[in-house]
Amino acid sequence: MVTGRAMAPGPRALLRRLREVMAETGTVEERLSQVVRSIAANMVSEVCSVYLLRNDELELYATEGLNPEAVHKTRLKVGEGLVGDIAANARPLALADAQGHPQFAYKPETGEEIFHSLLGVPLQRDNRVIGVLVVQNKTRRQYAEDEVEVLETIAMVLAEMVASGQLTSPEDNVAVSRAPSLPFRADGRTLSEGLAIGQAVLHEPRVHVERTIADDIPHEKRRLDAAVASMRDQVNRMLEAPDDEIVGESRDVLETYKMFAHDSGWLHKLHQAVESGLTAEAAVLRVQGDTRHRMQAITDPYLRERLADLDDLANRLLLHLTGKGVTSAAEALPENAILFARAMGPAELLDYDRRKLQGLVLEEGSSVSHVAIVARALSIPVVGSVGRAIERVEPGDQVIVDGDHAQIFVRPVADVVSAFQQSLGLRKARLAKYAAQRDDPPITRDGKRVALLINAGLLIDLAHLDETGAEGIGLYRTELQFLVRPTMPKAEAQTAIYARVLEHAGDRPVVFRTLDVGGDKVLPYLAKQTEENPAMGWRAIRIALDRPALLKVQLRALLQAAEGRVLHVMFPMVAEVDEFIRARKVLDREVARLKSLGRPVARQVRVGTMLEVPALAWQLPSLLPLVDFVSVGSNDLMQFLFATDRGNPRMVDRYDPLAPSMLAFLRWVVQQCKAHDKPLTLCGEMGGRPLEAMALLGLGFERLSMPANAIGPVKEMLRSLDVLSLAEFLEGLYHLPDHSLRARLEEYARENGVIV
Ligand code: PEP
Ligand code: MG
Repeated sequence: MVTGRAMAPGPRALLRRLREVMAETGTVEERLSQVVRSIAANMVSEVCSVYLLRNDELELYATEGLNPEAVHKTRLKVGEGLVGDIAANARPLALADAQGHPQFAYKPETGEEIFHSLLGVPLQRDNRVIGVLVVQNKTRRQYAEDEVEVLETIAMVLAEMVASGQLTSPEDNVAVSRAPSLPFRADGRTLSEGLAIGQAVLHEPRVHVERTIADDIPHEKRRLDAAVASMRDQVNRMLEAPDDEIVGESRDVLETYKMFAHDSGWLHKLHQAVESGLTAEAAVLRVQGDTRHRMQAITDPYLRERLADLDDLANRLLLHLTGKGVTSAAEALPENAILFARAMGPAELLDYDRRKLQGLVLEEGSSVSHVAIVARALSIPVVGSVGRAIERVEPGDQVIVDGDHAQIFVRPVADVVSAFQQSLGLRKARLAKYAAQRDDPPITRDGKRVALLINAGLLIDLAHLDETGAEGIGLYRTELQFLVRPTMPKAEAQTAIYARVLEHAGDRPVVFRTLDVGGDKVLPYLAKQTEENPAMGWRAIRIALDRPALLKVQLRALLQAAEGRVLHVMFPMVAEVDEFIRARKVLDREVARLKSLGRPVARQVRVGTMLEVPALAWQLPSLLPLVDFVSVGSNDLMQFLFATDRGNPRMVDRYDPLAPSMLAFLRWVVQQCKAHDKPLTLCGEMGGRPLEAMALLGLGFERLSMPANAIGPVKEMLRSLDVLSLAEFLEGLYHLPDHSLRARLEEYARENGVIV
């Protein structure tokens, strides 16, 4: 835990003196000379020098004690000599015998050979080194820890003064806010596909402190206390938020914030920093600097995380002190904003102006994280797991987010930008073309009409219905509404959501799938079960049948929301007919109950099942008479058919959905449904990929439900396809021993002009 080390009240007098210097008239050079003279006197040192980073070199800007001729002449590269070493490692150095240090670089013009001991600290701003402050003594002096801390406090104040232009002229071009900024590329993980180019915006903005030296210490203490109290309040409020405000990983972070916000060691350090003569803001910066130092030395990932939380908390406290918003959501965004955040909840993402937000980079996050689900619904490319992204970017930097290849480019060189602009242009042209084809009927060349539907799950998905011209929603994943909330949505809230969906859909059908949770879809408010194979564990219909209360509430909400209309409901992960029968009974009882109470209820209920567990296929003859429709969940079906974990990256491309076995299996399902005259849809990812969709149509599928952005490409494919001839071609392939029929299908498409 954070422990407070005593911070000597030593700098108070010196800070007061610096404030006087700043108030004096005179040139910036005169002021800086005064500053170094005052520091030298206060630290009882013969030398005090300031080096500032300019044109990528540390230039001696002012000195008391070294040869004045050396000012603006002595320059060191970052990493060169002791001064360069302090800058390169962003940490203090206290040496009784500086010349004996292997890094010592002798600069004859300074006349420093007579000074034996050296204490230097980096001047830092926004976590970047902008210079170095050094004191030197003739004697071999052992600098005490207190003295290091005093010099660090002074360095922090000086850094802010330099940054605000009080100590240098604009022509000096000193690197006040950024170290040499080279382009860089970083790999992460794709959380949402797509491509974006834009300007970096920090989700939690950096705060710049203008006033560092306290005029009135008791007043600063009161300001600090008030800010801590309001920050605690805010964290508590966020933790209590009943709605969409926080979720999942950000909840954990908030819990940690709460713990630190009450940590007496941290608060004690802040008070001591104010005591030493700093303003409340500067005190936070000073203590934050200490935390960052410690972070550098720690390798344990858990401790590093916790220190990073403390660093975030310090940022929050600064925002409370300066009265600014905690995030950039309320600020004016640039036209093409690329947002950088450590982690983020879905509601926070929704706070941003969608028209301007083009991309998102997260230091944490996984593809099943809720912010990723929301970002995909918004078509915002996201790359996650990008280590140290925030500290390496400056607001306004140009950034490319390449969600397709899980990489980002910061400050890219012109060639990279133009290559990406080309891809972006092609992408946009493609999208515009699909939008123009929105009303083209989904009819194959040989006149077969195909129902194209979209998969949805959040209210923001509804707009896609109109944009794509889809016939309806073939899969409404109800669990997404549950996943983006910290608490279980109440019956009325569920009814309201489903009613909105139905209202928006109008005449277009919406197939609501009952809660498919468990496995990787963990509800924050349900105790997590530890299972060896969660995908094959207690999930979906299995939970619903064991805990019927959850299912009942949901079915009731659906039935009421569909008042006077046709309601489509389907059950996930059904493995045997008996499960369907039991689930259906719960539904029938709810219908009867609502009717007997005279409550609103759907005019008609059509009940179906997902087919994603292979065993159910062999019971189709007994299942089909009982259901109104069937929908194949090819994502899960694939993993169970091939015994290959869909979440395991090593297994991703091991088997192909276009394998003869998968296609033969699906053909059996099609034949059974046709024989019983029951509508069959496929709603897994497979249906949204043109080549796979082509094969499915060849197998006899007539209804496909897919991610909204796949409608355009799939429609273009089917309008160029002759289904009958493809069906004949496929007949000869099911019994082949091939690993996959992909190459043969590609060749078929090429030879027959099918656009895939
Ligand atoms: C599937 O398994 O194919 C499916 C559509 O459901 P989910 O991806 O939500 O498991
Ligand atoms: Mg599934």
